[in-house]
Amino acid sequence: MALVAKVAVDVALDRLFDYAVPAHLAPTVRAGARVEIPFGRRWACGYILSLQEDSDKPGLRPIRSVLTDQPAVDELMLDLARWMAEYYCAPIEHALRTVLPSPVRRSDVRFRKPLYVARTVAPETMQEGSKALRKTAPAQSRLAALLAEREGAYLQDLLREARTTMAAVRALIERGWVAVERRIKPRTPASAQVVLPTEPLELMPQQKEALGTICRAMDAGRSSVVLLHGVTGSGKTEVYLQAMAHAMRQGRGAIVLVPEIALTPQTIERFRGRFGDQVAVLHSRLSDGERHDEWHRIRDGKARVVVGARSAVFAPVHPLGLLVVDEEHEATYKQEESPRYNARDVAVMRGRSEGCVVVLGSATPSLESWWNARRGKYALARLPYRVDHRSMPVMRVVDMRLETAERGRHALFSKALMDGIRSRLERGEQTMLFLNRRGYATSLLCLRCGYVAACEHCSVAFTYHRADESLRCHICGDEQPVPAKCPKCGDPQFKMAGLGTQRVEAAVAAMFPKAAVRRMDADATTDKDAHGRILGEFRTGKIDILVGTQMIAKGLHFPNVTLIGVVCADMGLHLPDFRAGERTFHLLTQVAGRAGRGEVPGEVIVQTYTPFHAAIQAARRLDYEGFSDQELEFRRQLAYPPFSRLICLEVRGRSEERTKYCAEWLARQCTAAMPTGVRVGEAAPAPLARARGVYRYQVMLRSPSLRRMNEPLRKVLKEFKRPADVTCTVDVDALSLL
Ligand code: ADP
Ligand code: ZN
Repeated sequence: MALVAKVAVDVALDRLFDYAVPAHLAPTVRAGARVEIPFGRRWACGYILSLQEDSDKPGLRPIRSVLTDQPAVDELMLDLARWMAEYYCAPIEHALRTVLPSPVRRSDVRFRKPLYVARTVAPETMQEGSKALRKTAPAQSRLAALLAEREGAYLQDLLREARTTMAAVRALIERGWVAVERRIKPRTPASAQVVLPTEPLELMPQQKEALGTICRAMDAGRSSVVLLHGVTGSGKTEVYLQAMAHAMRQGRGAIVLVPEIALTPQTIERFRGRFGDQVAVLHSRLSDGERHDEWHRIRDGKARVVVGARSAVFAPVHPLGLLVVDEEHEATYKQEESPRYNARDVAVMRGRSEGCVVVLGSATPSLESWWNARRGKYALARLPYRVDHRSMPVMRVVDMRLETAERGRHALFSKALMDGIRSRLERGEQTMLFLNRRGYATSLLCLRCGYVAACEHCSVAFTYHRADESLRCHICGDEQPVPAKCPKCGDPQFKMAGLGTQRVEAAVAAMFPKAAVRRMDADATTDKDAHGRILGEFRTGKIDILVGTQMIAKGLHFPNVTLIGVVCADMGLHLPDFRAGERTFHLLTQVAGRAGRGEVPGEVIVQTYTPFHAAIQAARRLDYEGFSDQELEFRRQLAYPPFSRLICLEVRGRSEERTKYCAEWLARQCTAAMPTGVRVGEAAPAPLARARGVYRYQVMLRSPSLRRMNEPLRKVLKEFKRPADVTCTVDVDALSLL
């Protein structure tokens, strides 16, 4: 019997290759080990995914070597990677690449361990003025003197300090005074900065109850999920902290995921204040070296609390007691490249396989999680009040149709908003003006009556394609000509005027010439520091009015902001996406949570052409549950998630003809291959049909069960012979349909 390894090779995706395990390696190889193998006529690296005894495979080429003494991925992580590959229709190597950060994967590569020069003789030998040094060249003497004071130094540092070259070091090696070896260089841990320790706070009754729910789940020793629905400022973070402490008392570690943008020094400080050096931080701004170090600190059990963005869900904390996903509804948890995983869903999956508790926290939980709580799959804990009992700000909804009628023309700002800004300027308080716009997504909105062109079958706004003056539904593929005038009120100029943050900025600046107005959106923050700089200026009061996109809505806390204006709530409401209502509700609620966190109560003014839209009315009443239950009903009727699973196939290419052809081919094949109950839409141009010369076509698949679609889809994709200039992505549980 010979041992055969199934290996995922780095250079050949989505297929496993069999290799023989030579007898001398047999005792050391394990699943998860990184190995070097012959591949074609070269050497390649890969991971062993499984091992089996096999006798009928003669002539297999042998594994050349095992690259790390410990397997880089353990069995649980390997399972998670396999699950991801299958669930998200991604190559296994992509999944492996995701569970293991690249600096860790490459840790076997020699450059990860820099050269270290260690002293091998007594310091006296090398001291300045020692007998042995008398006939030595100055460069060597300098080196020797430096090394006499310590046991050794990294080669690079040493050469720099002694202002010399490798030749001098070689001379010392030849004399037998030093030896050179490779060593992992400990970087100064980020935690070196001083953070004042904090004590657990005396909990409010609502927090006690929530913590009780979480701790009882942990004590039960089974995997379970708790949805923590708490308004902004209700003390969720304090509940996380104390639940984490509970896990630590049980000898287990914890992971907290926060959206990248919320991973500010203040956030990190809250965790360091409670858990000190036990905290490891993982985010995208770490250098490779720092990431490598943090990963090893976690794996070696030196850091048992991990705070990080999306990919921290794979942190090697063992045993894991608690996994928290803060702001679980955030779209940033979804990775937009293969594997297109959602860290929240991976967290739930990891919790299940490790038998630990997962807490999903949010002021506005996603409908997916809300539905799971509603039907008893998740436990529900509520924090309905702010800790300081400060009331939520007042939200006023302004009907822009009335403003238009009164003034006889379309206005950008209502009287209420202008008065509001003026009084803030007089009192020296700050205003945020917010425009929820994704530049390219265009729908047709009548600025007189609020009518929006939408697909009857799918209840999403039609996308307006300027090029051929057509309206398309990108979910079912339906197509219609653009009506000449508004079908409802007859207004002939009902195409939405281009409204953008720049126009808003210019208009405010013209209206309030003395005010300091700044804009913050993706265009204004292309350079790396702009984001922080603008926020800094706003914080210190150098800016009176900040104009921005959703970028300014989240996670920010400015006590002097007492007015928030939402310039046109309809923009987000009528995106061609069935989640448009949910998103708008979330956004308005988050925006409201930003206002009035200081001493002065806040005010939110929402301008809209559809003032009675459920999302706007519910946000005004701060009625999360009412909105969500109603929205669930809507989703159920139209068989949208969470009542179905959705896969979005997207085909891109420079040739419109070939792109379209491929999309149509996929739609046809899927229709033929799918069992009953799976709906396959027609191939349709994406709402952003063409960007930078690349055409995009989509095909939407929907079914109550993912598995029913997944397997046939894999077969279709295998047979898909795409031209070299066409790419195809598979987005399972797609969040952004644009
Ligand atoms: P959330 O995460 O729900 O927005 P936080 O945990 O940030 O809320 O709490 C808001 C503020 O209230 C923080 O400044 C926090 O220190 C404070 N806080 C939380 N819990 C308590 C408590 N039990 N007693 C006093 N202050 C608290
Ligand atoms: Zn449709």
